[in-house]
Amino acid sequence: MLITVLDLEKEPLRFEVSFETGAIDFGAEATQKGGLRVAGQADLIEEKRVGEARGALRVVQDVRLRGNYQGEFEIPCARCLEPVEQALGGEFDLLFRPLGVDSDASERAISTPETEIGYYQNGGLVLEDVLREQVLLSLPARTLCREDCKGLCRHCGQNLNSESCTCDTATADPRWSALSDLASRIKT
Ligand SMILES: [Zn+2]
Ligand SMILES: [Zn+2]
Repeated sequence: MLITVLDLEKEPLRFEVSFETGAIDFGAEATQKGGLRVAGQADLIEEKRVGEARGALRVVQDVRLRGNYQGEFEIPCARCLEPVEQALGGEFDLLFRPLGVDSDASERAISTPETEIGYYQNGGLVLEDVLREQVLLSLPARTLCREDCKGLCRHCGQNLNSESCTCDTATADPRWSALSDLASRIKT
């Protein structure tokens, strides 16, 4: 969903959207399960800045985007990579300036709202992009399928939660021991 400055010049935009699975690509870090709902509002904020000509005020058109989202996700366990169901949600209040407007260090904002600053280009921003970033930022630092997850065997890759392997008793998978032979030859 494209939010354009041109539209916001007419009136603020209120939105309530549900994105289907697959509409936003979260990469390997999270998999969306079911609808991802986002509701909020976009406003145009005219920021007055001192321009190049002394005393002249220049108007910068910022977009303030605030709202909240809620969705069900699966996140890979940090140890065994099995998917873990996790509800993610949160609120955001973001300010987007036109890309390039802050590139001149002499430009100084007269008033800066206490919000996070991002940049938009091509006259607007895409809600999906903002939402993707918010969801990825809200991911827990480490997700475990269970507190005592045993993880994967470093040698054979067996998920040790479901079955133990025999690597510890020196009978390693021949494919891997061939590799470790190679590794030790490279080292010497
Ligand atoms: Zn696990
Ligand atoms: Zn093993």
